[in-house]
Amino acid sequence: MRKILYSIAIATLAFSCAPKPYEGPAHVVLIGVDGWSASSFSEGDFPFIKSLEDKASWTLDKRCVFPTASAINWMSILSGVSPEYHGYVRWDSRRPDITPAWTDERGKVPTIFSLERQAHPESDILVTYQWDVIRSLVDSTAVTTIVDFPQTEEGDWEEAEWASEYLRTEKPKFSFIYFGSLDATGHKYGWESEEYLSYASHLDSVIKHLIQSVEKVFTDDNTVFIFTSDHGGHGHHHSTEYVDQTLQTPLFIWGKGIKRGHRIEAPSVEMDVTATMARLLGVEPLPHWKGCSIDEIFE
Ligand SMILES: [Zn+2]
Repeated sequence: MRKILYSIAIATLAFSCAPKPYEGPAHVVLIGVDGWSASSFSEGDFPFIKSLEDKASWTLDKRCVFPTASAINWMSILSGVSPEYHGYVRWDSRRPDITPAWTDERGKVPTIFSLERQAHPESDILVTYQWDVIRSLVDSTAVTTIVDFPQTEEGDWEEAEWASEYLRTEKPKFSFIYFGSLDATGHKYGWESEEYLSYASHLDSVIKHLIQSVEKVFTDDNTVFIFTSDHGGHGHHHSTEYVDQTLQTPLFIWGKGIKRGHRIEAPSVEMDVTATMARLLGVEPLPHWKGCSIDEIFE
């Protein structure tokens, strides 16, 4: 009898501790800007992104993984593991430089794209990008449509226009829309230079245009948007000096079922974005993942 009561107690405890069932959004849109530092928010003129502080769950202290360079960090955001596991350890790695700790049956590092494809074979998955390394990282065989755009100011507008048209007509379940020029501007003129802040303001307008162009179809009742970056920078670089300006990146998440105006309290790192996307998409996290879903953002 004692054993039965114990079992009932455990079952009750398990039930009461279980998170409430969450009905995921129909669409998840990840907007990634290379090299957008969190520290630029103190001086930059980004009216659209800053207005999301009232609408989103957000932080300006999501952390990079080391080394704080692009392919390494994007791969951590997309694969849910850190470089010693995914094996992409150079700024422009197109394939693992060291043997990955875990690959799928195709010999590839699983990404959120391949996991979504596996879990939901009918999903429409869109990727747009401006840097060919991104094409290698996302596992292009798992996505429905992948398109590259010029890494220029005009290319940003062209990409936003094209992506918004695709979103309105094809209504993809998962989209990753990547912009690359801000990082190039940082390397050329310096992070948080006048030119850098001006380019970030331009991207603020581009992202506003993209989101407003789709808001009749991608609403707060059916979509979750995520805006983030892979690393910040300091001086003209981001991987030669380890300072807060390089490590800290913005993360804004808003839409269906997400707390509004909530400043994320838990420390977060790239791989937490993957785990959060997995929860949103209804994809089972892999057992060896190192990130945690940022559960405090959910209503
Ligand atoms: Zn980068």
